[in-house]
Amino acid sequence: MVTEILPPRSRKVKILATLGPASSDPKTIRKLMAVGADAFRINMSHGDRRQKAKLVDSIRALEKELRRPTTILFDLQGPKLRVGTLDGGEAMLEKGQRFTLDRNPAPGDATRVELPHPELFEAIKPGTRVLIDDGKVRLQVVSRAENEIVTEVEVGGRISDRKGVNVPDVLVPIPALTKKDREDLAFALEQKADYIALSFVQRADDVAEARALIGDRAALMVKVEKPAAIDALEDILALADAVMVARGDLGVELPPEGVPPLQKRIVARARELGKPVVVATQMLESMITSPTPTRAEVSDVANAIYDGADAVMLSAESAAGQYPCEAVEMMDRIARSVEGDSAYAERVHFTATPAEPTTADALAESAGQIVDTIDVRTMVCFTSSGSTARRIARERSKVPLLAMSPSQSTARRLGLLWGVHAVHTRDIGSFEEMVEKAKRMALRHKLADGGDRLVLMAGVPFGTAGSTNVLHVVRLTGDELDRYRASAGK
Ligand code: PGA
Ligand code: MN
Repeated sequence: MVTEILPPRSRKVKILATLGPASSDPKTIRKLMAVGADAFRINMSHGDRRQKAKLVDSIRALEKELRRPTTILFDLQGPKLRVGTLDGGEAMLEKGQRFTLDRNPAPGDATRVELPHPELFEAIKPGTRVLIDDGKVRLQVVSRAENEIVTEVEVGGRISDRKGVNVPDVLVPIPALTKKDREDLAFALEQKADYIALSFVQRADDVAEARALIGDRAALMVKVEKPAAIDALEDILALADAVMVARGDLGVELPPEGVPPLQKRIVARARELGKPVVVATQMLESMITSPTPTRAEVSDVANAIYDGADAVMLSAESAAGQYPCEAVEMMDRIARSVEGDSAYAERVHFTATPAEPTTADALAESAGQIVDTIDVRTMVCFTSSGSTARRIARERSKVPLLAMSPSQSTARRLGLLWGVHAVHTRDIGSFEEMVEKAKRMALRHKLADGGDRLVLMAGVPFGTAGSTNVLHVVRLTGDELDRYRASAGK
């Protein structure tokens, strides 16, 4: 008797849900998975290690129970800049007044506050903008000395203890990994994170530095949230395994109207490269406190899916909101509506993804053509490093891809990829075994039925990485279905 397994998603785009106080108990995590969360983000900016280790344990237990490889992403805080503390916890700044940022740790007031980042005092110049609390308060630098930055308040408002600071005009001379990030990274690797997300990446060197520490123990996702990262985008993407359009900080550092064109550009480029791309932040923001989203939010999620993003992300909606499961359900429904639109298949191919001159790409492209020419229910690939699956996913084909890997960490990493249903299985030894196993797994995972055609891709000889060279079309017969049912005890 086969244990009941989580049925395949009836959509291609993936849902990445951030875990937090609203979604920490195993019951809620289980529900999130059941209603559609494919991957979970653990945010290192909040909470303690013990809690995070518990989250990982819960996810891994559920993954086993539901037999669904599940992606865990640890998001490092990065060099998030903050002001110091204020006398009484807050102060009110008026437009036009002078306000000083200094290196004095004493609590500040309406005339000054500490800026506990010595590196900034060199980098900031007269004219530089300093934004506080997601840009709600805006300062412009008038003059700068070794220990003091004098500014004029352009947009006034209340500031409070340890609020975030953004300085979009300068390349901040701080590496992307702080001391805290290094410690958090070691912890995340201990916890067998599938992806590590790097925040506030500015240059390719930031990615190289992280890669040197991580090696191949986890995949590396860069969060694009600084204008400097846009300038170095090509070099940064070349070194990364995945990318997040981090619209929260990006929309503070840039005028918000600058974000949509960048979202489209980053998604398109990541798709060309075959690297998973996540669109993040404020996707269903109003669902933090309301059981239904605004029409504009629904439209935003839909448009990210029409762009062909691999995944859409929930932040506070699932981490700290009142309706974490409803938010995932809503995303799932939006995704199914968009993907069911007959114009979607054309729209999603608006981004051209020409094949590179490799055997794997030639086969992936051919598989896509086969799927467009004859009726195929599912594509199946055998992949050890995941690269074959990534090249196929990049084609954004009509049918799902069942990706089987003998490597558990590969199967987990594939959870973030568009259209991929990943399964961790034993390796195969022969061509006959491959065909037999593809059929059996497609049946078991409800990705095929008697009479359905499958397109298989694999590398022969088996067990050699990076050797995809076989494309095979098979049809499941009714007899095979009966035999499968008999052996599965149904
Ligand atoms: P954050 O990153 O939620 O860690 O700030 C995402 C973003 O800035 O959009
Ligand atoms: Mn951010």
